[in-house]
Amino acid sequence: MQILRDALEPEGWLSPPAITHIARAVGLPRARVEGVAGFYSFLHLTPGGRYRVRFSDNITDRMQGNHALLARLCRQLWVEPGKVSEDGLVSVDFTSCTGLCDQGPGMIVNGRAIGRLTGARIDEITVLIRDQVPLERWPRALFEIADNIRRRDALLGADLAPGAAVRAAIALGRREPEAASSARSWREGFEVAPQGPTAMLEQIKRSNLRGRGGAGFTTGLKWEACRRAQDPRKYVVCNADEGEPGTFKDRVLLTRHADLLLDGMTVCAYAVGAHHGFIYLRGEYRHLLEPLQQAIERRRSAGLLGRALCGEPGFDFDIDIHLGAGAYVCGEESALIESLEGKRGVPRNRPPYPVVSGYQKHPTVVNNVETFCAAALVAVKGGDWYAALGTGRSSGTKVLSVSGDCARPGIYEYPFGVAVRQVLADCGAERTQAVQVSGPSGICIDATEFDRRIAFEDLPTAGAFMVFDESRDMFEVARTFTHFFAHESCGFCTPCRVGTALQRNLMDKLADGKGSQHDLNQIVALDDLLKSASHCGLGHTACNP
Ligand code: SF4
Repeated sequence: MQILRDALEPEGWLSPPAITHIARAVGLPRARVEGVAGFYSFLHLTPGGRYRVRFSDNITDRMQGNHALLARLCRQLWVEPGKVSEDGLVSVDFTSCTGLCDQGPGMIVNGRAIGRLTGARIDEITVLIRDQVPLERWPRALFEIADNIRRRDALLGADLAPGAAVRAAIALGRREPEAASSARSWREGFEVAPQGPTAMLEQIKRSNLRGRGGAGFTTGLKWEACRRAQDPRKYVVCNADEGEPGTFKDRVLLTRHADLLLDGMTVCAYAVGAHHGFIYLRGEYRHLLEPLQQAIERRRSAGLLGRALCGEPGFDFDIDIHLGAGAYVCGEESALIESLEGKRGVPRNRPPYPVVSGYQKHPTVVNNVETFCAAALVAVKGGDWYAALGTGRSSGTKVLSVSGDCARPGIYEYPFGVAVRQVLADCGAERTQAVQVSGPSGICIDATEFDRRIAFEDLPTAGAFMVFDESRDMFEVARTFTHFFAHESCGFCTPCRVGTALQRNLMDKLADGKGSQHDLNQIVALDDLLKSASHCGLGHTACNP
């Protein structure tokens, strides 16, 4: 996939000779290479314009007028949506959420993200494209992405030196027996204080840290299963494929807290015995690639990546970045691993789980950005400290991506257990009709439920918190989400491939005023079918809207 991405850069598309050349060079059938390229939205097999413009099309972009802005750009550049202009200069189209919901509407031009689109900005971009100004010479202000951090807590407020968590993990494992004896109280029935990497693992288990990707699997159990796997070759993978519409907090963590993430991944490697790690970075965050590579290089120079980290013999660990290419389903961990291996991102059958048979069939821990950042905190401050934050079943804090109808969209971090009503008050939401928690695959709550709490035991979320005021048509919101699922279904299994398309068509029919009770019944029947017969979580949740 990385070869395909590199080959794409000069021309903006993968020509048939380029595919043939790559297939020969890597010794694979041509059809296989083409099949991989055809799976990903950003690996184009047909030529686009020299300027390839893609408007983000999340519901929040729509609320901010992205369709009118696209029409304005198309009108000014004489190009039809979804087509290439006659002179080959520009092509304009929509793409799924680009992770700029707090500063939308957003777009991507030749891989570079631009937010806060207005009519004036569209006019400026029109002139730049018409004058064929290279992207490197476009005003820098166009590409500025704000962090919009509105509330910090334990994680966003942490000010740890790079490597602090790694050193803390090693120190924890190096404790002399007498010092370690104080750890007997760590856990009832614990006879011998753990040492080495096991001590770090014990702290993660004590913290009750649960994965922040939405499913909430216990991180300590995941790491322990990987550590116990009888295979000397293990991997650590960071899922930075933040594709759920309305979610953008990993963008900020990757921008402002890259060292905390890299610390967390290294701590995990230490605990499970892995020597190699990957960051799977979503294609829409291409602009973060170079800064992350620089952060990795700095750590190599500082002895925080490479051989014998921090002077610990045998602790060898390094990290590579894998750039995704626009496939929402790759957020599912086994699909992500397939993609990492250079294949189509089709979810695997499970079991076996990645902790037993993951990347290249070796034991692999996959956690998301926020989970690794939290693990770094646990290494420094201890499992008990972390477990004391939040609620009994949801320890720690949660970083929310708040967008939609509110005065202060952005990033908010709270201890788990915060009420929806509190978040709405903090972000300046008024006359709120509904909140979509955890994106299209999540749950939509109305005003009677605003006392519910963000926590695994009540409202679990991967981070999206989209606010809709009383002026919004919630049917239209749901219809937009059904279009999203129909577009992002990977097509592997029939219930989801056909079911998401049927659902979209039924919603369009209702929107056209041609629906009947029969169509509503069909949607309910599709919900049952997709939940019971789909191969992966995308199909299971596609009818939630
Ligand atoms: Fe692909 Fe949908 Fe089937 Fe998942 S449920 S494997 S996304 S077709």
